[in-house]
Formats: sequence, C-alpha cells, structure tokens
Amino acid sequence: MDAADRAEVVIEKEMDCMIAKSQRRLQGNNQTGACVDCDGMIPMDRMAALPGCARCVACQNEIEGS
Ligand SMILES: [Zn+2]
Repeated sequence: MDAADRAEVVIEKEMDCMIAKSQRRLQGNNQTGACVDCDGMIPMDRMAALPGCARCVACQNEIEGS
C-alpha cells in the first residue's frame, strides 16, 4: 500500500463519519439535548414534548420557514 492508497483510506473513513453524522441530523435522533444547528440547549419541556428533537425552537422555525 503506497501513500496515495493510505490517504484514500483516511478520506473514506472521514466520509463514513460525515455520512453517519448527517444521517443522525436528518433523523433528528438527538440524545444530547443540544441543538444540532446552533448548539444551544433545547428546553426540557420541548425535549419531553418531542423526544429526540434535534433543534431548538428558533432553528426549527427557520427550517420550517415560519
Ligand atoms: Zn438552535
């Protein structure tokens, strides 16, 4: 395996990581309680009402265009 092959493996691993990350974002499977967009804390009552929600109210509103 030469240097170019090794670089390709690293890039592939990073791609896998990025894909997994974006899939988690799309699924909204958020266990951290922090907004995926602004990293702000999502209020507990919002987390309780929408289990696994990935965004705070402000970012969700922006996405929904309201
Ligand atoms: Zn947010």
